[in-house]
Amino acid sequence: MSERKDFLRTIVEEDLKSGKYEEIVTRFPPEPNGFPHIGHAKSIVINFGIARDYNGHCNLRMDDTNPSKEDIKYVEALKDAVEWLGFDWGNSVHFTSDYFPKIYDYAVELIKMDKAYVDSLPEEEMREYRGTLKEAGKRSKFYKRTVEENLDLFERMKKGEFKDGEHVLRAKIDMSATNMKMRDPLLYRIKHSHHFRAGDAWSIYPMYDFAHCLSDYIEGVSHSICTLEFENNRDVYNWVLDTLGLKPKRPYQHEFARLGINYTVMSKRKLLEIVQSKQVSGWDDPRMPTIAGYRRRGYTPESILNFCDQIGIAKANSMVDVAQLEFCIRDDLNTKVPRVLCVLDPLKVTIENYEGSEELDASYFPDDIDKKGSRKLPFSREIYIERDDFMEQAPKAYFRLTPEQPVRLKHAYIIKCKEIIKDASGAIVEIKAEYYPDSKSGSDTSGVKVKSAIQWVSFADAKPIEVRLYDRLFSDEAPEGIEDINADSLRVVKNALIEPSVLADKPDERFQFERQGYFYADPIDYTDEKPVFNKIVGLKNSWAKKTKVVEVASKPEVKKAQIDGEVVPMSDAQKILFAKYTDKLGLNSEVANTLARDEKLSSFYGEALSVFSIPVGLANIVANDVARELKEKQLDELKFNASQIAGLVKMIDDKTISSKIAKQVFEEMVKSGENPTKIVEDKGLVQISDPSKISPIIDEVIAKNPDNVAKFRAGNTKLIGFFVGQVLKATGGKANPKVVNELVSKKLKG
Ligand code: ATP
Ligand code: MG
Repeated sequence: MSERKDFLRTIVEEDLKSGKYEEIVTRFPPEPNGFPHIGHAKSIVINFGIARDYNGHCNLRMDDTNPSKEDIKYVEALKDAVEWLGFDWGNSVHFTSDYFPKIYDYAVELIKMDKAYVDSLPEEEMREYRGTLKEAGKRSKFYKRTVEENLDLFERMKKGEFKDGEHVLRAKIDMSATNMKMRDPLLYRIKHSHHFRAGDAWSIYPMYDFAHCLSDYIEGVSHSICTLEFENNRDVYNWVLDTLGLKPKRPYQHEFARLGINYTVMSKRKLLEIVQSKQVSGWDDPRMPTIAGYRRRGYTPESILNFCDQIGIAKANSMVDVAQLEFCIRDDLNTKVPRVLCVLDPLKVTIENYEGSEELDASYFPDDIDKKGSRKLPFSREIYIERDDFMEQAPKAYFRLTPEQPVRLKHAYIIKCKEIIKDASGAIVEIKAEYYPDSKSGSDTSGVKVKSAIQWVSFADAKPIEVRLYDRLFSDEAPEGIEDINADSLRVVKNALIEPSVLADKPDERFQFERQGYFYADPIDYTDEKPVFNKIVGLKNSWAKKTKVVEVASKPEVKKAQIDGEVVPMSDAQKILFAKYTDKLGLNSEVANTLARDEKLSSFYGEALSVFSIPVGLANIVANDVARELKEKQLDELKFNASQIAGLVKMIDDKTISSKIAKQVFEEMVKSGENPTKIVEDKGLVQISDPSKISPIIDEVIAKNPDNVAKFRAGNTKLIGFFVGQVLKATGGKANPKVVNELVSKKLKG
C-alpha cells in the first residue's frame, strides 16, 4: 500500500470501522468504445488498488449502454490493459448489458410508483424546458400521463414500436432543482441499434444515470469511485437507489480529480479521430497515450504504477507534466536494463595498426560494479562510430574524436585520428585511425588522456536494425486533438548498427543503447530479417528547458558542450556575458546560458538589441527559433537578419500580433526573407484586440455550447480554457488572448 493515505482510503477505512460494509467492493467501469488511456490507468490503479489494499474485490465492468460506438475489440483491449498492469478481476468480466432485464424491471417499478413518465417532447423543446441555472425549468404536458398510459408506452418502446427519439422515459423529480441534473433526468431512450452483445433484443437503452447506480447495486459495490465531472450526477445516483428503496447495503459515489497531462490528449473520442485519420499506425502506436501504446513503446507496468502512485489522488483537477511520466520509466529502467552499443548514423573508422580480431569482455552494467552480467564484444580493424562523435573543426568544449584529440572506444581501446577521407563533395566518408595497444579498458597503462568514451560497433560483426525515434505526438502544451499533431513525431533510422549480442535471441527485453537512450524490440514489427527497436525514452529529460521558453529548440552548441550529463564550465568571456544577460537584461538563466555559450547567437542577439531594446522577447526568439535555424546553417546563409527579427519582436511587444502568430511569421521569414511587417500586412495577421469585434464571436461560441456553459456555471470553471480556445480558433489565432479571456469570463459569469 502506498504510504500516504488518500481521502478515498480514509473513507474506506472509516466505513469498515463503522461496520457500514463488511467487504470493500469497487469497480472499474469503462465504456468499451476505445482503447484505455493513461487516465484510465489512474482509475484502474485507484479502484483495483483500494480493493487489494483492503482485501476486497474490484469488478471489471463494461459500461456498454451505447451500442453504436461499442465493440468487442475494445473489451479485449481493456482486459489486456488491466491484466498488464497486474490486476485481477476475478472470475468474469461484468457487462451492464447483462443487467438490461433487471434495469428494465426497476424502470417499470418507478413508473408504478408514479416516479417516472414517458415524455414525447421533441428534443429541442425538451432542452428549452429544462430552463437555465437562473431560471427554473417547466414540465411538459406529457408529465400528466397516467401510470397505465406510461406502462403501456414504455412497453411498446421496448417492443420497438416507435422511432428513435420519439419518446423517452424520465424520472419525475423536480424541474426547478438548482442541480440541473435533477430536472427530470432521462432514464431510457429509444435506439434501434445492434448491440455487440445483446444483439437486436433491445430497442431501448438505459442512460448512464440510471444504469450506473443500479449496476453498482446489483454487483454489491460498496464504493463507486468516479471522476469529478460526475459530481452533479451524485444526486441522481442517490435518488434512484433511495426511491427504489434499495437498502440497507448500497453503494455510495465518491469523486476524485481526473488525470490531465500536458502535451497529451485524453479523450477516447479524440484519440479515435487520430486513429481513423491514419496519422498513427493504430491505437497501439507507440506515440499514443494509450496503455497499449505505452506498452508497445516499451514502458513497464511498474513505471506506470509508480507514476500513478506519485501523482496521488486529489479532489481538485490539476495538470501533470508529461516529464514526470518519462521520469518514472527512466527511473525504472535505469537499474534494470543492460547497456549495449548501437550506432545510429555510422561513420567508418579503420584502425591501421590493428591486425586480426578479438572478443572483449564487456559488462552489461559498466557503471554499477555490484551488478553482474556481461557479453563478448567483437573488436576488429574496421569499426563504425557515430558520425557526430567526430569533428574536424571542433569547438573547444568538444570532448570526442578530432584530428588532435584521441577518444576511448567504450570497453575497448583509445584511438587517435590519422587521416580524414572525403568524397568528391567534401563529405567525410572514413577516418583512418591508430590505436594505443596498451590502452585496453580495464588494463590501460598507456597514460593517454581522453575526455570521453564513445560507442562503436565492429564492421564485420554488427547487425543492421531499424530504429524508431519518437518525439511527442502533440506540439501544443494543451492540445485540442488532431489539429495539434506534431508532424515530425516519428523518425525512422533504417540502417542503424548494433552489436551482435543484442540479437542473439529475439529480445523481449529492454536495453540502454549507451549514450542514446532506452530501447525496446517492437513487439509487432520485429522479425529476425528486420529487427525493429522503439526508443522508449532518452537518457535525460530533454524537455525540461524547452517547456519554460517560448518554443522547442535544439540548442546545438550547448549540447555539444555536454558529455554524458556534465556541463562544461564557461570561459571568462562567457561568464561576463552570462552575468550581463541575467543581471542587467533580466533573462532567465536557461536562455542566458544558451546565448552566452554560443558566439553566433550572442552576436546576433546583440545586433537585434541595438535595433529595438526588448531584451527578454528578443532573447527568447534568438535562443530558440534562430538557434534552430543556425543548427544547420551559417549566419550568412540565413535569409533573415537581426534587424528583421527585432522588427518581429517589436510587433509582439506592441501587441500588433500574438506570439502564436509570430511563429507563423517567423516560418515565412525563414523561407522568403521577407520583412515581418510586410508578411503581417499581406496575410492580414494583425491581432484583434477590439472587444466589439471579439464579442460577437464569443457569443456565437457560447450559443453553440450550451452544455459546457451549464457545466461552467455549475462550477466547472476549468472550462474557461475550452471557451477561450474555441474563440481563438475561430479567429485563426488572431484574437488577443488576454482580451478574449477577460470577455469570456465576464460573459460566462454574466
Ligand atoms: P474519455 O472521456 O477519455 O472517453 P471516459 O470517462 O468517457 O473517458 P470511461 O470509459 O467512461 O471513459 O471511463 C472509465 C473510468 O475511467 C471512469 O470511471 C472514468 O471516470 C475514468 N477515467 C476516464 N478518464 C480519466 C482520467 N483522465 N483520469 C482519471 N480517471 C479517468
Ligand atoms: Mg465517456
